[in-house]
Amino acid sequence: MFGDTFETWQEELNPTITTYQTRKARNCADQMEIPELPRIKHFAGLKNQGATCYLNSLIQSYYMSPEFRKVILQLPLCKETIENSANLAQNESRNRFLLEFQKLFIQLQNLQSKATSTEALTSSFGWNDGQQMWQQDVSDANKVLFETLDRSLYGTPYVIAPFYKGVVFHHITCLNCNNSHGNEEIIYDLNIQVEGNKNLSEGLFSYINPFLLDGNNQYFCEICGFKVDALKGDKIRKLPPILTLTLNRYTFDQKKMQRVKLNDRFEFPLEIDMGVYLENSVDNLVYELQGIIIHRGNAHGGHYLAYFRDLLDEGDWESHIAEYWKEKEEIQQQKRQNTDEVDYDEIKLPFEITNPKVAQGWYDFNDSSVIPIPVNKIQQQFQGSESAYILIYRDRNLIPSKLSSQEIPKYLYDYVNQLNQKIENDRQIYEEAKQHIVISVTDVSKIDLLNHKLLDEKYDKITYKLKLSSTVQQLYQQINKDEYWLLEFQENYQTNLLHFPRYLQNFENTLEEEKVAHESTWILVKKDQDIPQVGLLKIPIRVNLLIDKKPQAFLLYISTTVLELKQLVCQLTGIPQEEQELKNVQNQKMISDLSDETQLGELQFTLETQILVKKKVQIQNINKNVNKNEQQQQQVGDDIVSILVEKDDQIGVSKFYVNINQTIQELIEFIKEQFGMIDARRLRNLNGSQLFCKSDLSIQLKELQDFKEGGARLQIEKGEIPENGKISILVKYQEQTFEIHVDPKQDKIELIKLESCKQFNVEPIQHKLYKVDWLQVPSEALSDETKTISQCYLRDRDLLILCDKTAQIDCELIRFQIFSTTTGYPDDCVFQKHETMRKDATLKDLKQMIISTFNLNIDIDNLRVRDINKNRFFGQVFRKLDLPLQKFQFSTHDIVYQVLNKPENLQDDEMLLLIKQRDPINKVYKQQQEFIFKVSKTPTLQELKQQIQAFIGISQEIQLELAKFVFYEFLWLHIDPKMIQMQQQQGKGKQNKKGNQNNKSNQQSKQNQQQQQQQQNVCENLRKSPINLGEGDFIGYRLGHYPDDDFQTKEDQDLRQRMIAARKNKHNALGTIRRQKEVEFVVDIQ
Ligand SMILES: [Zn+2]
Repeated sequence: MFGDTFETWQEELNPTITTYQTRKARNCADQMEIPELPRIKHFAGLKNQGATCYLNSLIQSYYMSPEFRKVILQLPLCKETIENSANLAQNESRNRFLLEFQKLFIQLQNLQSKATSTEALTSSFGWNDGQQMWQQDVSDANKVLFETLDRSLYGTPYVIAPFYKGVVFHHITCLNCNNSHGNEEIIYDLNIQVEGNKNLSEGLFSYINPFLLDGNNQYFCEICGFKVDALKGDKIRKLPPILTLTLNRYTFDQKKMQRVKLNDRFEFPLEIDMGVYLENSVDNLVYELQGIIIHRGNAHGGHYLAYFRDLLDEGDWESHIAEYWKEKEEIQQQKRQNTDEVDYDEIKLPFEITNPKVAQGWYDFNDSSVIPIPVNKIQQQFQGSESAYILIYRDRNLIPSKLSSQEIPKYLYDYVNQLNQKIENDRQIYEEAKQHIVISVTDVSKIDLLNHKLLDEKYDKITYKLKLSSTVQQLYQQINKDEYWLLEFQENYQTNLLHFPRYLQNFENTLEEEKVAHESTWILVKKDQDIPQVGLLKIPIRVNLLIDKKPQAFLLYISTTVLELKQLVCQLTGIPQEEQELKNVQNQKMISDLSDETQLGELQFTLETQILVKKKVQIQNINKNVNKNEQQQQQVGDDIVSILVEKDDQIGVSKFYVNINQTIQELIEFIKEQFGMIDARRLRNLNGSQLFCKSDLSIQLKELQDFKEGGARLQIEKGEIPENGKISILVKYQEQTFEIHVDPKQDKIELIKLESCKQFNVEPIQHKLYKVDWLQVPSEALSDETKTISQCYLRDRDLLILCDKTAQIDCELIRFQIFSTTTGYPDDCVFQKHETMRKDATLKDLKQMIISTFNLNIDIDNLRVRDINKNRFFGQVFRKLDLPLQKFQFSTHDIVYQVLNKPENLQDDEMLLLIKQRDPINKVYKQQQEFIFKVSKTPTLQELKQQIQAFIGISQEIQLELAKFVFYEFLWLHIDPKMIQMQQQQGKGKQNKKGNQNNKSNQQSKQNQQQQQQQQNVCENLRKSPINLGEGDFIGYRLGHYPDDDFQTKEDQDLRQRMIAARKNKHNALGTIRRQKEVEFVVDIQ
């Protein structure tokens, strides 16, 4: 995945170490935290936490999806208040995770603030340092988030994932027999290639377009029994109502040997008919654009923003957008010049739309800013370094609806009202503080006015809090000392000299008009005391004159001119002004060459400035020296680069300048010193997330590409520097964490377990290690401890949890969706509830749970529980009551129960089938019934026939012909060696043609042999291919020989033809075959 793509763009960083602002506070409010800014438009933004990357856009995309928002806001997570949380999810971290989501959403909806913070939510993920974010691609994050939500919501009537969850079938389709092999995958997004595709339609076709396996790549088809040409690809089996498409704009540049982002144009429409891209095409399945997540930057970093449509008409877009155009016009009038930039606002979108609402209500969400935009702006995201990265479409038939306030739990309103109350209070306090200043007043006794010095560091002062609108007169009244003036004084902390800028004498003026500064200090001086050194520019400085190599200090002012300085020198040395040579020793500037009016304040003196006083002798070639000096400085500057350093346990980035000639070791020491760290630390390069190991310590920074241009992003983290090739694994036990460095290829899980048990002082036999999921909850037991670290796919900094073996761990649970049926046929199958069982619970436990949960009041033997397979047909009947659940093969974890009239006790050698009689004249089936087939190890056709004859009570003399229904092929497979042979002959014919092209007669005769052998074996063992008889299968039987009857019904025929046509047409997607409702072909019931 593109881990490093999702770094925060450098400009987004918020360095904590910057140059200190010297600006003074203007009023009492300036030292206070600025209260939340009010919400301007309807939608609130999300604050940029500095390292939250794509998360803000992702969260806004969830919030702006009414279905998502509805589920989250509706959850009754707490009983009364947020402090009193109930036990919705047993797991506290999940509960907290949902609650934080809820709190964030109610804030986005009701908080009277321009932007809200995601900090509480991310810390509930355990994403405090933003580190996990960089390791994940946004679409990966999307997936884990949905899976986590899905699990968190188990046991509640609320669901989110079904809105976002689609199914893709990864298939290999034999071109000889047309059978597909493959597996289904649940997807949360489709990954669409931008490279080579002009628009979304092309992108989707290239997604479903299979590629041909031929020549050396031919595929061995188990049904045909030989190597065949085949198509390999992905089919979209089910689209979610809310469809997420990730546009892959990345490609590998072979010349540069690096990943680059394509800025090519890739158009996507506001409306798209998705029906043609489905495995079974349908008409008119229109999806409408709901949002776009946009990536700005290059392949190595960037920033995310997003456009979303206001689906619930919450914002007043019409009037907002009118303001937008007005503001834009004003700006353009000010500019009065054309830039080269294309103004997409003005260009119409290049496609027609049928629903005008799709073009309305668009907003641009960029962290804390949310602004309305015209729909035309969307095409700005078709291309360029800022372009669409994720598209979110929704099924037109999915009608958005808003929660009424009654449906939102009351505690959420209480919560947000409290926050609003606090914001309101903060604002009031802030406004009040803005109107006030504090000044301090002292008497003259501790101050040497003449020498600008304090006589004592400590002096008594009285502070006054004053309203800015009060007058100077009022101030004097308050102080109540008529014969005194207030003289302002400022302390220069560098020179330790006092400056007296002014008296406060304009009685009528307000303090604001007089610009009386907050926290200013004033001395009370007698009105008759004359102080000449008062004035705004009378800022005292100390100047050292080097006369005859002896320094002498003088008190001058920044308003002192060069002429006055020369006069002073003349007084001291007798050198006439025009013969004086006055040189600033520090920067070698010749002060005596400057014009007489130049003031010392312009010369950037420092505390140590010394002025060399000489009599002019001859002209020296000073300039040359100066140049050389500057050159040297320049060179030094070249070796200095900036680095950005984060701590692993704290948010924030610090910027440092470092010399690239130093080694990694020196750099680590430097960083530790800067942060005042004394314990063991190591350094990680966040670009690629690589730790510097021991052998790297002697490397100079300049040898590493990432440092050369500056801006390298590093993380200093707690822990020892690892040996070469070792990675760090964290093991958590209860609340303690232990770190171990291991060699991923050599070291085994055993080692980690033993070491950590030793560390935590627990018994290894009693404990087990678990991998964790996204919420740091155990998700997979590492049971085989002889595996190596890399065999278990553990990566650097992964966390494991050490648990007691008997603890109830989520990953050791099976979650069932329980359905019920009364007839035993899939058409009356009804979902009942989700239930969780421990893997080591037995079937008996499961059945007892069902009996008690649904109050069935029956004997355990009267309950049949069976598997629901991927095609939604009923499969295996579970037997063996004492077998633990983990030993059963569940195809979907969907199970169905049925209450039987009489006890059932199926044995291992009994197979439950569904048989029905074929009426070959009317080409229909009748008399569907359950039939128990007593199977041998290798059940033959003969055995099946005899048992059915006995079951339906006909003589063995009567000819009986059988066929098996192949689900989703709509095909009745005639169980007859001759017929199967015939079918295969047809297949062989095709194969021969292809075989001749390959010119491999040798190989071909081998294939023929194989085929012949298989024909003999056909029906010898019905469990095997091509019959693959299994529990739950439908068997049709026919009395008598009807060579012209193919066992198909008219419906089967239609569906099969449509399916074949759809397969053929798939690649040019002209198919307009309607997908049939599943129930229509499940069972023929008379
Ligand atoms: Zn085949």
